Amino acid sequence: MSGNDINRRKFLKVMGWGGAGAALAGCDMPTTVTLEEGKETVVSYLMPEEYVIPGQGVYFASTCQQCPAGCGVHGRVREGRVLKLEGNAVSPINEGGLCQMGQAGVQTHYNPDRLTKPLLRKGGSLSEVTWEEALATLDEKIGASSGIDGGKVAWMTGTVSGHQSVLLQGLLESFGGANHYVYDLINNHVAAQVNEAMYGTARPTYHLTKAKTVLSFGADLVGVSQSPVHFAAEYAKFREAPRGVLIQVEPNMSLTGGNADLWVPAKPGTEGALAMGIAHELINKHGKDAAALPSGLSGKIKAYDLAKVETLTGVPADKVRFIAKTLAEKAPSLILTGASIESSENGYAATAAAAMLNVLLGNVGETITSSGGFPFPQLDAKTGSGADLLQFADAAGKGAFDVVFFHGVNPVFTAPSYLDLEGGLGKIPFKVSLSLFADETTNQADLVLPLASALEDWGTHVPAYQPEQAVISMQQPLMEKLYPATKGFGDILLDMLKLRKVEGYTDFSDYYAFLQDAFAALPTEFKNGVDNASFWNQTLASGFISIPKQNANITANALDIAITLPGENINYGLSLLPAIRLGMWDGRHANIPWLQEAPDQITKAVWGSWAEIHPKTASRLGLVTGDFIKVESVKGDVEVPVYIHRGVFPDSVAVSVGQGHQAYGRYAEGRGVNPLSLLDSATDGKTGEPALYGTRVKVSKVAVNKDEMLVQFGGSESQVGRKLAATITAEVFNRTEGA
Ligand code: SF4
Repeated sequence: MSGNDINRRKFLKVMGWGGAGAALAGCDMPTTVTLEEGKETVVSYLMPEEYVIPGQGVYFASTCQQCPAGCGVHGRVREGRVLKLEGNAVSPINEGGLCQMGQAGVQTHYNPDRLTKPLLRKGGSLSEVTWEEALATLDEKIGASSGIDGGKVAWMTGTVSGHQSVLLQGLLESFGGANHYVYDLINNHVAAQVNEAMYGTARPTYHLTKAKTVLSFGADLVGVSQSPVHFAAEYAKFREAPRGVLIQVEPNMSLTGGNADLWVPAKPGTEGALAMGIAHELINKHGKDAAALPSGLSGKIKAYDLAKVETLTGVPADKVRFIAKTLAEKAPSLILTGASIESSENGYAATAAAAMLNVLLGNVGETITSSGGFPFPQLDAKTGSGADLLQFADAAGKGAFDVVFFHGVNPVFTAPSYLDLEGGLGKIPFKVSLSLFADETTNQADLVLPLASALEDWGTHVPAYQPEQAVISMQQPLMEKLYPATKGFGDILLDMLKLRKVEGYTDFSDYYAFLQDAFAALPTEFKNGVDNASFWNQTLASGFISIPKQNANITANALDIAITLPGENINYGLSLLPAIRLGMWDGRHANIPWLQEAPDQITKAVWGSWAEIHPKTASRLGLVTGDFIKVESVKGDVEVPVYIHRGVFPDSVAVSVGQGHQAYGRYAEGRGVNPLSLLDSATDGKTGEPALYGTRVKVSKVAVNKDEMLVQFGGSESQVGRKLAATITAEVFNRTEGA
């Protein structure tokens, strides 16, 4: 290999296009373009730019950053200010849709509690400093001549991808490459590991539109999922004629469960046994071939007859029969999994048992296909896991770090209290938070670097879940920064790379210049046959780069499945179900008034926390809706108002997630409770993921707290006998009108 080849490979790596799949043919070394060269002259609106018509909106494409799904947005900008976000109709991810969290992106941007200046801890409290002071402090701590031991530096981020991830990897390599903890409370790490073992790919593509029946074990397709808007669009097509059948198994009704033809509450932690029971029925009553399964598994399935499954799971035998019959008769089908099955003490085996139903039903290669991989591994999404949080907390508690950076995470809020994360952070001499807001983690930092909002920043993003058409989503500023002393994530990373004097990055004036060079360096076959300038402009206009999928066959490997069941706990008799919903998400949106005001999709509650309890359990405990209860685990307790309904498994209590902030601004602080603090140390035995659905609690009635009353949107749930909307049962309809 010539010296030129080596330089070229290095150059492609710096630009993010390096890696096994990146084609190396045909791109020229571009020259660096600086922001100054592209900068417009700032003039008064008395002399507006040609495209600025006072009173008339102009639309710009960008990428939503309210969750990691990477939906394309169009921002309506008028007189230099972004007013409204809508879905980008040509984005293959969201096809024009935008969820409520995406719509509320403007309230993140205009939030009055945003950080506006760097803050440095001096004498115990945080004080405003200039960027020069902030960077000088960083230089002293981690600069090239600081003498820092790279092994004692760590980053904790949420999901990260695109060219920000390239810069972060460059920075991590300068410290020796270790210690990047990627943490997301909402993740599908267990399913990803099952997929990896089964199909050799963590992220296969699911085809709802090819399925006639979908059996979902807790996959909240239209709510909290890997790609909520994409799956909502797929779900809508699945329900078009001929209408697909949706069966949802979960202990607490999700938005998807509320839309299902059949909602099946199963005892938390027993979904794997239910999957085995369905397999038993498919083999014994519907002639499905057990030989399709790995040897040894069919023997295990024999033990799950319907009577046993009913006893274990609480799901009546006739419902299991119906599920199996529907799957057998309305083929092809698709079996999906979500948090309630994956995030249990037996999550891996239960998820694998559900996945094996896809093999038994012949869905692999039909409704599940290979994603084909992504050709630029440097840019691909690094998705978070809960196991990374546990490892980080353990290492921090042992004093393993001297400097830690946080971006896109708030572990002090989302970590279970038993981890004593605050204690662990206390052992880190210098903590840096890159954040828009003073959340619970940022308040522990020694240096706070205020971020530009997603609507003010540049970036590229590779959605972890890619539909049939893969993309690199483009993020561009929709307006000038509201606060001049904030900085984009990419710019801060570039600043640090310069402090570390990392070769290849020091010549870029800013992240914008880096991105322009990176685009110019993209192998030509991805550029639609146009020159660099046209390609850049085309991408800004469309909002994404299309990446052709690489076709690959998918086959299923055998997995060893050993179903275990949760033990009983006499002292703590109820299962705690963290109710994670679209809106609050993991608590990151509690500071957005629109999302506080938007009613929860199931309970219609607003601006606070609640606990969902089944009427049978409520009657045993003497509770009515609006009463207050203490929910107590071995790790702590919270007091919360009760909402009684049938959308929760008896002997469980579902407590909403997202409220209970001690910091995070005027709209978030001091309301509701944080049930994540109650979680005990249960983990999935195979993957080490925290078992969010594995904690046992007890409940007792307490005095009403008038400051935390249950507030629900929509008034009465009863027609009080007025027959405003007439209803009729299916049985009566069939007997009378149906004929
Ligand atoms: S699903 Fe996520 S990325 Fe898509 S619009 Fe909603 S918040 Fe934004």
